[in-house]
Formats: sequence, structure tokens, C-alpha cells
Amino acid sequence: MIELPEAITLGRQINETLAGLTITGVFNATSLNKFAFFNGDPTAYKALLTGRKLVSAKGMGIFVDIHLDEEVLLSVCDGVKLYYGDRSATVPAKYQLLLTFSDDSFLAFSIAMYGGIYACKGEFTNSYHAKSFGRVSPLSPEFDESYFKACITGEKKDLTLKAFLATEQRFPGIGNGVLQDILFQASLHPKRKLSSLSETDKEHLFQSVRQTLTDMTDRKGRDTETDLFGNKGGYATLLSKNTVTQPCPNCKGSIRKENYMGGAIYYCPSCQPI
Ligand SMILES: [Zn+2]
Repeated sequence: MIELPEAITLGRQINETLAGLTITGVFNATSLNKFAFFNGDPTAYKALLTGRKLVSAKGMGIFVDIHLDEEVLLSVCDGVKLYYGDRSATVPAKYQLLLTFSDDSFLAFSIAMYGGIYACKGEFTNSYHAKSFGRVSPLSPEFDESYFKACITGEKKDLTLKAFLATEQRFPGIGNGVLQDILFQASLHPKRKLSSLSETDKEHLFQSVRQTLTDMTDRKGRDTETDLFGNKGGYATLLSKNTVTQPCPNCKGSIRKENYMGGAIYYCPSCQPI
């Protein structure tokens, strides 16, 4: 899933690799995933995108925006996997959208579970997109300790940390993936309620949000995800599907995995007591 470190990394990689290229071909899904979301009829994308030049790209929150000339936007989010190949690379057998470029390279968009691939001319109206680009990013200067504490004060006291941090895009780009290491580094259980946090807990949590997301972004995303070129991210996740059978990196105890609020949570019961 695209979360903040992956959004920023993909945006940068597209910008560095594809800016200046012109789209020469647009191909619709090999077999349509019913959880692939488009802006209107995806067969209309061919007329909209063919001949457009890629100007720039930027990732924020859970979205990656690809800006084309003539005010055309191509925006992807959630579970869209992007793969860029040069003329010697093999196009994946399955995709939800494929673009070819003037130098015979291609960009394939695939989706394992669900995701959005939106193309439009002019203004893009989507509430999740507006949150990703409009709300204070956890990596921006405005996201400081007083802002974070004010967010806690404004919420219901019985909200749990997972609900607070990873739902409703209060903090754009924090999802159920990056959440696990953020809470582990702050020694806080995902089911802890906001009302149970001491001032020190809040400070640790703020520091962990900033530091964990910075580390993940500096290392070009998490090792559970792939980048534009199909390489795993360089950030080795501490708690994830990759490490669940390994001992806790801190106390060497067992890591627990549970389903909670529509996704798996991972935690160490000793280091993150409820
Ligand atoms: Zn532990």
C-alpha cells in the first residue's frame, strides 16, 4: 500500500525518470479488477492521455500525482503498484493500465487488492485526495509537538491509538503499515486509549511519528513495498508480515499479530503494554 514514505519516493522517482517524456500509447486493463477505481470510464483515458507530455510528479499522503501538460492529471492511491521499465524490460502480464512513452519505455499500473487510478483535465475533486494534499503533512515544519498535542486534545478520549493515527487521514499518509513501527518505537500499544497517555507518552509518540517516517522516507520506503523499478524499499520494517516470526528487536520476546479495525496489528506485549 502507498503510505507517506512510498508516496514521496514514487513521486521523486517519476519526476527524476519520466519528466519530459511523451505518452505514445494507453492500454486498458488486461483483466479488470473490480476494486480498481477510475475517474469515469477508463476507456476514455486513451483520448485524454495520448500525446501528453509528463511535466512533473509529486507524492503526498496516500497519493502520487503525475502532472501532464495541458492541465491533465493522473493520480494514483492506496494499493496501486507502479512499475517502470525501459525498452529492454518485459511488460507485466497483468495490469489495470499501461502507458508507453516516446523512448519505448513503459509505466504499468497494477492492483492486488484495491486502488484508484484517476485521470482528469483541470480540477480533480476527490475528498481523500484533498486530505492528502490539503492537511498538515507529518513531515512538514507545521507538524510540531504543539500541533500534535492539539490534535489529541480535539479528539474523543476513548479513541485508540490505531484509530487516531491511521484512520480518517488526520495525518495524511499514516496507514496501518507505517503505524506498527511508529507505535513500537514509542513503546505504545495500538489499542491504548488517548485518555491513558501521559505527557511523556505524547512526546514520545510525536517524536516517533517524525523520526520513523523520516527514516522510512530517507531509505526510499519500507521493505514490504516496491519502488518504481520493482526494488524493495530500503527501510527494514521492525514489525510487519516480514518479521512476525522473529523475536522482538528490543526484548527478544514474541511478537503478536492480531486483526484489529480492518487490518493486522503487530506488537510486543512486553515492550508495548496495554
Ligand atoms: Zn519487546
